[in-house]
Amino acid sequence: MGFLDNIKAVAKTVQQIGNIELYQKILDLKSDAMDMLEENRKFRAELEEANQRLNIRDNLRFSFNMYYLPDKDGKRNGPFCSSCYDASQNLIRLHSYKGFWGCPQCGRLLNNDSGIEPSASLVHAYHSYRSSM
Ligand SMILES: [Zn+2]
Repeated sequence: MGFLDNIKAVAKTVQQIGNIELYQKILDLKSDAMDMLEENRKFRAELEEANQRLNIRDNLRFSFNMYYLPDKDGKRNGPFCSSCYDASQNLIRLHSYKGFWGCPQCGRLLNNDSGIEPSASLVHAYHSYRSSM
């Protein structure tokens, strides 16, 4: 029998006895218990989210101004935008665009592993492409 079931059983017994004042206090107790259970559920969800964020942060690898995460097989998952992650911990997957990597969130266009920087006209073309997505 769970916590709330015990309170309900006590409330039912007190109601049968006919002690209205005590019955009302038990109903208040039940309401407080339900609020605490809901608060507990929210804290658990927040804790789970915080643990996931810590797990991501601890596993991120930085390479050529992009982040990667190892997947279950040990392969690299990504790349992800380092600007978006560093600014707001949003893990945004970069899209391949004409030999470069573009962030659909912030619009940053990154060079590929070759070290060749994208030209200004390509950056402009990417921003136009991104706004049409
Ligand atoms: Zn970004």
